[in-house]
Amino acid sequence: MKKSILVCLTLLTVLAFAVSAIEQSKDQNGRRKAIEKTTAQAALTEIERKNPNASAQLSAVEKEIEADLSVDKAYKHMTFLVEEVGQRLAGTKSIAKAAHYIRKELEGYGLDARIDRFYMYHSYPEYAALKVIYPEDRAIEAKPCCHILSTLEEGLTGELVYAGAGGYEDYESLQVKDKIVLVDMTWAPPRPEKARIALEKGAKALVIMNWGTSDNPVIQMGAIKSVWGNPTPESFKQIPQIPVISITRASGEYLKELCSKGKVKVWLRAEATREWVLANQPIGTLYGTERPEEFVLVGGHLEAWGKTAICNSSGNSQILELARVLAKHKDKLKRSIVFGFWDGHEIAEAAGSTYYVDTNWDKLAQHCIAYVNIDNPGIVGTSIPKSSGVPEVREFQKSVVKDVWGEEGDWSMAYKGGDESFLGVGVPYIGFSTGYTPEELERLNWASLSPWLHSEADTLDKIDKKLYEKHLHFFAVLITRLCNSEMVPYDLSALVGVSKSHVESLKELSEGIKPIELNSLMAKVQQLESAVQSLNKYKEEMQAHQIGSEKEAIDLINEASIRVSRELSPILWMEADKYNQDPYGYYLVGKPIPKLYIPITNMRKLKENQEEFHLWHTQFIRERNRVSNAIGNAIGHLTLTTKLLEELK
Ligand SMILES: [Zn+2]
Repeated sequence: MKKSILVCLTLLTVLAFAVSAIEQSKDQNGRRKAIEKTTAQAALTEIERKNPNASAQLSAVEKEIEADLSVDKAYKHMTFLVEEVGQRLAGTKSIAKAAHYIRKELEGYGLDARIDRFYMYHSYPEYAALKVIYPEDRAIEAKPCCHILSTLEEGLTGELVYAGAGGYEDYESLQVKDKIVLVDMTWAPPRPEKARIALEKGAKALVIMNWGTSDNPVIQMGAIKSVWGNPTPESFKQIPQIPVISITRASGEYLKELCSKGKVKVWLRAEATREWVLANQPIGTLYGTERPEEFVLVGGHLEAWGKTAICNSSGNSQILELARVLAKHKDKLKRSIVFGFWDGHEIAEAAGSTYYVDTNWDKLAQHCIAYVNIDNPGIVGTSIPKSSGVPEVREFQKSVVKDVWGEEGDWSMAYKGGDESFLGVGVPYIGFSTGYTPEELERLNWASLSPWLHSEADTLDKIDKKLYEKHLHFFAVLITRLCNSEMVPYDLSALVGVSKSHVESLKELSEGIKPIELNSLMAKVQQLESAVQSLNKYKEEMQAHQIGSEKEAIDLINEASIRVSRELSPILWMEADKYNQDPYGYYLVGKPIPKLYIPITNMRKLKENQEEFHLWHTQFIRERNRVSNAIGNAIGHLTLTTKLLEELK
C-alpha cells in the first residue's frame, strides 16, 4: 500500500498533500515535480495577489490552475455573448453564431470540439394582451409565455382569482374551474409547474406577475412546457394546454389588490408558436491522463432570453476560461472533462442536456463522476454561497466551498430545474452560485435569480466582477478535485441515511392503512447500511496499509460507489423510470420515494372497500418490488466488491 493512497483517502481535506505525495511516489517524474513545485510556488504568490481570500487548503496543482485563470479573458467572452450576440433562442441565427464562436475557442485550446445538431420541440413568443373589464376598464401590458395553448383571435374572458405562488397548497381554499388564475413569479413552484397545476385545477388561463420590487419594469419571458426534454408519444399529451401570459410586478400587485376587494373580470389574448427546430449545441472534450474513460461533465445553458449577462453569458464565459486553463494543465488531470453548452434550455425545457443524456446514457451510467452546472455566477448584490446537489456529494461540495469561500454556505437538494437531467441515469448533480440574504430575498419578492432575469435588463452591469472572479476560482478547484480524486468523492452513508428517513416517513404516512407493509423494505435498507459499512471498513483498512493492490482496490471501490449511487438515484428522487424524466420543477422531488408516496397518499384518501383503494394497493406492491430490487442490486454490488477486496488483501 503506497503512502500516496492512504493520504488520498482523506482527499476532501488534504488533497494538497495527496497530490504532492503521488508525485513523490513516481521517481521518473522527479524532475517534472521539481519544475512543478517551483511553478506552483510562483503560482501561489500570484493567486494570493489576485485573490487574497484564497485558502491554504488548496493543493499545488489547484493553486497553479487558479493562478492561470484570467477574469479579463472570461469577461471578453461574456462581453461578446452579451453585446455581439444577446438573446439566443433555439433555432435562430444568433445561437448558431454563439455556438460557432464557442467551438472555435474550444478548438483553439486544443479540445476535441463539435456542435451537436438535433431536433427539439420548441416555441416562439408571438403576441399577448390583457384588459380588466370589470369593475373598471384598464389595458395592461403583457407578453406571452412559450409552449402555451394560443387563444383564438377574439381572446377569452373570465373571472380573475389570485392564487399566491400557484403551488398545490395555494389552491386549498380556492375554486378556479373555468376561471383565470393570477400567480406570483417565484421559483417554488417554477413557471411550468404553475401552469401544470393551474390546468389540473381547471383554470382556463394563467397570468404570471413578475418578482422583484414594485418599481421593477421588467416583464419576464419564459416557457411552460413542463414535459422535460423532447416529448415521447405519451408525454406529448401531457404538455399543459393552457394560455399563459406574463406581466410586470406593478400590474400584478394592482390586479391582486383589485381581486381582494371583490369580483374581477379580465379579457386576454395570447399567441405562441409550436414547432421543431434544429439545435446548435457545442461540446468539447479534454482527455485525462490516467483515467481517460472516466469523466467530469461541466455544463451550462447556452440558449438564453433577453440581454443574457446573468443567465447565462456569465456561465458560458466561465466554462470557456476554465476549458482554456484546464487544457493548459491537462497533463496533471487524471480524468477527462466534457464541456457542454446546452441548447433548448429555456423553452424546450432542458432538451439539450436531456439529448446529451439520451445519447450518452451508457457512458454516463458507467463513467461519469459528476455533473457540474454553471449558471448565474456573480449576480450583483448576492453574497451567500449556495450549493445544490444530491446527498452523496454534499460533504464534498461543502468542503470545496469552505476551502474557497472560507465558509460552508447553504446546501439544498437539487430540484428538477436548471439542467438537472441526470436524476434518472444517476450522475450526481453539483450546482453552485451565490444567492441573496433572506432579508434581501424577501425585499425582492423572492427574485432568487435577480429581478432582471430573462429580459433586456439583464446587462453586463448586473455582474459583480470580483464575485464573478471568485466563482471562476471556485469552479476551477471543484473540477480539478473531481478530476484528480483517486476515489470518487461519494458519501454512501449519506445515501443510506436518506433511504432510511424516506422509508420511515412513508411508514408514518401509511399509519392506519392496514394492507401497507413496509417492514420488509426497512429490513432491506438496513442490509444496505451494513453493506455500506463493510465497504467503509475496507476504505479504513486501506488507510491502515492492509490492502495490497492499490489501483485495483480503488477501481473496485469506485465502481461499487458509482453503481450504488446509480441504483438509488432514480428510486429516491423520481416518479418516472430511470430512462425518462419527470416534469419541470416537479413537486415530488424530495418527497419520500415518489413511486411509493403516490399510492400511499392516494390510499389515505380512500376507504378499504373502494375499488380505487385496491387499484392503488396493487400499484403500491409493484412499486415496492421495484424499490426493493434496486436496493438489492446496490447490496449485491457492495457484497461482491467487499469479497474481491478481501481477496486482494
Ligand atoms: Zn440561467
